[in-house]
Amino acid sequence: MEKRELIYEGKAKRLFNTDDVNVVIAEFKDDLTAFNGAKKDSEAGKGALNNKISTELFKMLANEGVESHFVAMLDDNHMVCKKVDIIMIEVIVRNVATGSLSKNLGIPDGKILPFTLVEFDYKNDALGDPKLNDQHCLILELVKNEAELDQLRSMARHINDILRPYFHARGLNLVDFKLEFGRDSEGKIILADEISPDNCRFWDLETGEKMDKDRFRQGMGGLKVAYEEVLKRILN
Ligand code: 5GP
Repeated sequence: MEKRELIYEGKAKRLFNTDDVNVVIAEFKDDLTAFNGAKKDSEAGKGALNNKISTELFKMLANEGVESHFVAMLDDNHMVCKKVDIIMIEVIVRNVATGSLSKNLGIPDGKILPFTLVEFDYKNDALGDPKLNDQHCLILELVKNEAELDQLRSMARHINDILRPYFHARGLNLVDFKLEFGRDSEGKIILADEISPDNCRFWDLETGEKMDKDRFRQGMGGLKVAYEEVLKRILN
């Protein structure tokens, strides 16, 4: 597999073309950003931890029948992925209120939601990732029709139904997370991006300790130790 030119650089990953037109290489960066890039830092080894955590989760989900762009882990910081056209919608899944949900709607932090909430954010840094309703998604032509929005919601709920008990068994409360989906070369919608403590919130079931990027967002320190602990519990 030959790594060729850079095709995209995001806040946490770089994507490179390869000698296979249907395959890209994702490089997981050590950069940390929050509040739409307003807060920045770097933590050596963070990218490798997210690559390993995502690899394990994509493999586990594949065993449960969930198709993703994951092909293989190449080395510490690189993942081989199917090339997809990313759907510019961040699919947010919430089991417990916190973060922007508590801030925007006044729902107490830590309140267990009566049902799993699935929301859509516009993947658009220039606009600050605003909330979308179904009509916004159709007007912006982010998907082809309403059925695709229902498909995104049902895929996200299905993934939550797998991940939530998986993490519970490892002593972690899966509070919320962000998923991205893309279209493969045949137009099929599959899971993409990464699943890591950068885009999930994990609270330790016993202590309530935050084991995710909120440690950086809230200036708590101990980010790498927390990510290492998440990986350790996944591997055990
Ligand atoms: P909130 O809307 O409360 O800030 O985030 C909800 C969940 O989605 C959290 O687990 C958060 O990590 C994830 N999330 C939301 N937007 C983004 C984003 O732009 N980038 C990343 N990495 N995660 C996000």
